[in-house]
Amino acid sequence: MEKVAYFDYCALVICILILASVISRRMTHGRVNRYYLATVIITFLTIIFDIWAITLDNLSAHNETLKYIVHSGYLFFHSLTIPLYITYLVALTDTWHVIRNHLFNTIVLPLPLIIISVLIVINAFNHKTFYLNDNFVYTRGEWFPLVYVAGFMYAVYGISYICYYKKLFRKSRFWALMSVFGLVTLATVFQMFYPRYPVEMFATTVGLLFITMLIQRPEENVDIITGLHKLTGYTADIKKGFSNGKHVHIILINIANFNSIRDMLGFDTTNDLLRLIAGKLAELNKKNKLHADLYYLDKGRFRFVIDSYYANDIEATASVINKALKRGVNIKHMDVNLIAHICIARCPEDFDNYETLMYFGERFSVDNDYTGEIVYAKYIFKKEQYDLHSNLDGIIENAITNKKFHVYYQPIYSIKEQRFNSAEALLRLVDDKFGFISPDIFIPAAEKSGAIHKIGAYVLDEVCSFIASDGFGKLGIDYIEINLSVAQCMHKELPELVLETLKRYDVSPDKINLEITETAASYSQNIMAENIGKLNDAGIEFSLDDYGTGYSNIQRVSTLPLKIVKLDRTFVNAEDNPKMFIVLENTIKMLKDMEMEIVAEGIETEQLLNKFADMQCEYIQGYYFSKPIPRDDFIAFVLKHNRA
Ligand code: C2E
Ligand code: MG
Ligand code: MG
Repeated sequence: MEKVAYFDYCALVICILILASVISRRMTHGRVNRYYLATVIITFLTIIFDIWAITLDNLSAHNETLKYIVHSGYLFFHSLTIPLYITYLVALTDTWHVIRNHLFNTIVLPLPLIIISVLIVINAFNHKTFYLNDNFVYTRGEWFPLVYVAGFMYAVYGISYICYYKKLFRKSRFWALMSVFGLVTLATVFQMFYPRYPVEMFATTVGLLFITMLIQRPEENVDIITGLHKLTGYTADIKKGFSNGKHVHIILINIANFNSIRDMLGFDTTNDLLRLIAGKLAELNKKNKLHADLYYLDKGRFRFVIDSYYANDIEATASVINKALKRGVNIKHMDVNLIAHICIARCPEDFDNYETLMYFGERFSVDNDYTGEIVYAKYIFKKEQYDLHSNLDGIIENAITNKKFHVYYQPIYSIKEQRFNSAEALLRLVDDKFGFISPDIFIPAAEKSGAIHKIGAYVLDEVCSFIASDGFGKLGIDYIEINLSVAQCMHKELPELVLETLKRYDVSPDKINLEITETAASYSQNIMAENIGKLNDAGIEFSLDDYGTGYSNIQRVSTLPLKIVKLDRTFVNAEDNPKMFIVLENTIKMLKDMEMEIVAEGIETEQLLNKFADMQCEYIQGYYFSKPIPRDDFIAFVLKHNRA
């Protein structure tokens, strides 16, 4: 009875196609790819030996030795495919540390393979695993079931492994991985009953085909510009690491001046630059035998992820990287300087979850000054700050519902009138858990979440109720300044809100003054201009806050209906820089010529007070007189000082 070899021919064709696709897509680097490639190659050899063996059997050839060799070869390669496939699974789940650390695994993994190899060797002498019958045809011997037992052990081990790490895989991937075992088991059972039809190799290659289509897809995780793994790969791998308890060291590299480099070099050249840096890093990885996985996330952020097992020399490596990057990159005959922040982090020691690590990775180069030295996450990561930032939306919502926001007032002194003639309303938030939270932190968050509109309405309400209250008239305060953030300025309902609140408290529009910033002014959107126009028509005046911090656009500033310009604190503090002083003098002169009034903000000393008074600034605001204080304290303060 001749065996049917067609299934093997089909398997051969599929296997060759898989090999071609793996090689043409250059999926030959990295542990996962290497084990996969090895599995495919061994499958290929098994098919070749199977076809050879079947052909010899069908020819009823009498060359006994050759037949023994070919059948043994088939058996050996066939038994090798499953353990190789399991090593591929281990690489895929990134769980070498689990195998390494458990004696059970280190013994169980090679054991069945050893059994089969011994059986094959012994078979040359005792012919108990298989033999050639009287017609010189391959026949299974009495020990053959042992081969099945060994294969069965691997199948159980592999299936358990996939099930154990199930949560690491999407559904389709999970089933693709399982399909290999399912198909091979089915085929083995089939072949037991119908030995004429050897379908095992066909089933195996179909399983591998599923994997090639559903799992081995480099385009999903590889950045086309740098050739490194990309953000999606990084997040997937880091999550995987946390969930399977792997210890890793990460070298985080953030190029702080990436945006300006891109502005300067343009898109294409920046990509060339990234490619160069990636090449350099890959070279260092190889040279230092780090076995690191390299990633390019985005905006000049690179990552080295190293199994802690190999991370003995991590400091040395990081400093080699640091030196290399400090040298800069020469591209298109330009020397490009890189400001590369480099930080070493350990997981799970420094970060025990994915979110914190990602937050830190984005912030550490912004929150810490560049020193040129390597920094350590364990020293610079501030957990409370992270907790605060990640809970901010909740804190703000809670503060709104539980009335935790309070409006403070900072008196503003008029030099001409020699009294406090106005004040700035400033928000304060004291949270039960985090204590005092600066508006510089919660205002931007409230802008993002949209909570700013509720907060803004609250401030407006508070201020108007203060102005409308009995004692206010006696204070001699002409108006209160209220801050408007960009999001508020762009809000369609702003004029109605302001005018309605004034009306409700019967407050005259000249009792308040709205502060906008240059950033807000630089949005040339219609709504913004419309809002300001409407409010101005209703008799409300505007101040320009924080002047001198942004890219001051005089033309735009001159078109806005501004009465007052507030010089930013940074400007004021530049006193010991003579050139800055010239800028300051001329700025003041220019603003005066434009008939604007000037508030000097952040005045903390008498010396500064005098200096700005000499420069003809009308108003002074700062700690020299008072910090922002609660309403009652403010009343007491003004009553005391204005009377004197
Ligand atoms: P800003 O409008 O420029 O407010 C002035 C800031 O300078 C206040 O900080 C004030 O406390 C501080 N300051 C005043 N004098 C001195 C001084 O002599 N030395 C120093 N070191 N600082 C001084 P604060 O209260 O932390 O507010 C920060 C920013 O938050 C404000 O800057 C403003 O942009 C925003 N903000 C505060 N309250 C509100 C609000 O109700 N609505 C909106 N949209 N933004 C607000
Ligand atoms: Mg202000
Ligand atoms: Mg200001």
